[in-house]
Amino acid sequence: MKPIYLDWAATAVPDTAVLEQAFTESIQYYANVASRHDAGKQASELYESSRAAIARFIGCKPEELIATSGATEANAIILLSLLQKQKCSGTVLISSIEHDSIFNQARVLEKFGYTVKTIPVNRDGFIEPDTVASLLTDDTVLIAVMAVNNETGAIQPIEAIASIVASHKKPMHVHVDAVQAFGKIPLTIRNIHSMSLSAHKLGGPKGFGLLYLSEKKPIQSLFQGGNQERSIRSGTQNLYGMRGFALAVHNKNPQTAYEHVSAIAARLISGLASIPQVVLIPENRNSNANNFSPYIVACSVPGLTGEVIVRYLSDNGIMISTGSACSSKHTERRVLNAMNIDKKISQGAIRISLGPSTTQEQIDAFITMLDSCIKKYKP
Ligand code: PMP
Repeated sequence: MKPIYLDWAATAVPDTAVLEQAFTESIQYYANVASRHDAGKQASELYESSRAAIARFIGCKPEELIATSGATEANAIILLSLLQKQKCSGTVLISSIEHDSIFNQARVLEKFGYTVKTIPVNRDGFIEPDTVASLLTDDTVLIAVMAVNNETGAIQPIEAIASIVASHKKPMHVHVDAVQAFGKIPLTIRNIHSMSLSAHKLGGPKGFGLLYLSEKKPIQSLFQGGNQERSIRSGTQNLYGMRGFALAVHNKNPQTAYEHVSAIAARLISGLASIPQVVLIPENRNSNANNFSPYIVACSVPGLTGEVIVRYLSDNGIMISTGSACSSKHTERRVLNAMNIDKKISQGAIRISLGPSTTQEQIDAFITMLDSCIKKYKP
């Protein structure tokens, strides 16, 4: 049986046509994008037209997009830029459900003198704009809130949060990790100063990402070198990555994909409901369905561990995960703990994540296999 891949939030199934075209072109236009000769200019034209195509999709200026090695680096550039300030003091607010590339990076800022405070989420995994409002102080320098949580699919009220921050008397930097939202659900950059994106979550190349940085909010990067990418991210520019990301974006029809994935997610959720031992995370996801990305569905079998379920399904050709691939080696469930989820539920948690080529048959096979896993280990 061909493996069934339901771990798209960790990385999407590669878009072969996209990767092949980008690879071929990166060999054809092999010159350094920054070289002044004709070959360099041709490479630069392809690189810049790719950047411009992504900028059009986002609705920003091409020069507001800075190439990075992925969203981890884009997040790090923003947080670490605070270390270029004259005085490393003030408060950095991050949500309690951020990806490790924000959460752990913020710990570094603490060592240099910043105070890092986490914004709690409610039981369903949402940051409430009023909570943010109550935490803003005159010494807040930066706030980081992700657009879609990578473990639960909860779509955060970014627009409302950004507008609350904008109306605060003291200006501060608003950063959004948009990795699980970009190209999947509508995104706005209104009142947002920076945003991180990752190409491989859309079927593009791994190891390439973009930092959207509003021209109104210049930063000083900690990285120094040959001054490429507005001097924010020096290093020889990655034509394969930029071209591959642009083609991956171009190849998507977010609306069509959204409709397809929504129908698949609905089938998945009703399949899960047919197994009495399964609980959704959060339990009342269905009553708030529009606020969840259909691309990510979390559930649990209390009494089993997520690891046992993932292993059983993997042995039977179905790939899912317990949560974030980046922290899959940790047994502690930071995001679920932040939601105050009962330990028995968080230990049995699994994440099923979907993509534009996920089929109903794959979902049905997953439900059958999950049911047989439960019958085997929890009769
Ligand atoms: N943020 C989120 C929400 C993610 O899901 C991921 C990927 N696991 C990242 C950041 C890191 O992205 P990248 O792999 O491009 O470094």
